[in-house]
Amino acid sequence: MDLQTQALHAGYEKDSQGTMAVPIYMSTAYEFRDVEHAANLFALKELGNIYTRLNNPTTDVFEKRFAALEGGVAALATSSGMSAIFFAIINAAEAGDNIVCAKQLYGGSLTLNAHTLKRFGIEARFFDVQNPSEIESLIDEKTKVIFFESLTNPSIDVADIEAIATIANRHGILTVVDNTVATPVLCRPLEHGIDITVHSASKYTTGQGLAIGGILVERNNLVEKLKNNTRYAHFNEPDPSYHGLVYIDVPLPPYTLRARLALLRDLGAVSSPFNSWLFIQGLETLPLRIKEHSKNALALAEFLESHPKVLKVNYPGLKSNQNYKNAQKYFMDGNASGLLSFEVASLEEATKIVNATKLYSLVVNIGDSKSIITHPASTTHQQLSSEELQACGVPAGLIRISCGLESAHDLIVDMKQALEV
Ligand code: PLP
Repeated sequence: MDLQTQALHAGYEKDSQGTMAVPIYMSTAYEFRDVEHAANLFALKELGNIYTRLNNPTTDVFEKRFAALEGGVAALATSSGMSAIFFAIINAAEAGDNIVCAKQLYGGSLTLNAHTLKRFGIEARFFDVQNPSEIESLIDEKTKVIFFESLTNPSIDVADIEAIATIANRHGILTVVDNTVATPVLCRPLEHGIDITVHSASKYTTGQGLAIGGILVERNNLVEKLKNNTRYAHFNEPDPSYHGLVYIDVPLPPYTLRARLALLRDLGAVSSPFNSWLFIQGLETLPLRIKEHSKNALALAEFLESHPKVLKVNYPGLKSNQNYKNAQKYFMDGNASGLLSFEVASLEEATKIVNATKLYSLVVNIGDSKSIITHPASTTHQQLSSEELQACGVPAGLIRISCGLESAHDLIVDMKQALEV
């Protein structure tokens, strides 16, 4: 089935009422038929609902639909994009291990990797996403994950996904890609050799800035990479916290299984059924919206590129952009997302422009149907030192735009007057 058809139908079979919209199952727990049924569910001899911290019928549709769109085999919804990233990493790494990750990341992911994981005993080693050859020298026998964004926020680089996957596969290391900005409509990293993708569902998935959520998607046949792989002994040995379960012996996608049975069980960062329902509504129109977001962003990027006050425009849909080749290779039909950033001479100049726009809301979010303007150095990336800001491509005069679904003409007119104030 085509992606736009899957966005409307995958993962849902109508109930006996013939309900067209996926029902919201607001329930904490589910009645077992008898004691044997309960025991079978806990022992995975039978699959079914137990308790909403572990699974929920509405969230199940969201997970199945998202996995289908991403070309994956299974998915796990979480309470936020950050918890999806945290789960994806700690499902592989523990104290004493390290991860290799791109320098160009969303600010929250940078602080998670560089600071919070450090307190858990996991070291983050950084490479330039524009230069995957740096990865090899950072890897050792304790490297458990290579992590990067397919389309980086806010520096707007497009990763050479296959080059990075090839290096990781040579060493039997898991790759985790944050595909939030590209979405499965533009890019399907699992088809380019990636093992796990993560998303902030708070962005383009909901599409209207309605709810916080995240999701982790596993590729087909990951068991082959995990089986007898000494880096991932915990998938091959009995888990004492789950009465000796060996994850790779269960005929279910092992990465998602362990993330659900061990991490979601113990950490509880679960998606609310209502939020899962909102994400399902959002997915129905995702393919249509992403095309419009991309069209508007290209028109605005072309305008900005021609403006004398603008030093640089970061948008991979522009032929002049260093990421154009990768965007053509990895993104659908040359669309390049709704996200762009541009640089002006100084912090003062950037502040003046941000304050002068009328149609763009000053908000730290992306992927809303309404256009958003952000000054990363004073907001999303404020907690980074000036060296860290430089390293992840966030100069003081950088302005990020998340192009909404207004008319391109109105977006350009408003930006023009703001640049000329
Ligand atoms: N990944 C990217 C690329 C993001 O832009 C964000 C948030 O801005 C996140 C992850 C974190 O997602 P959430 O805010 O849903 O926790």
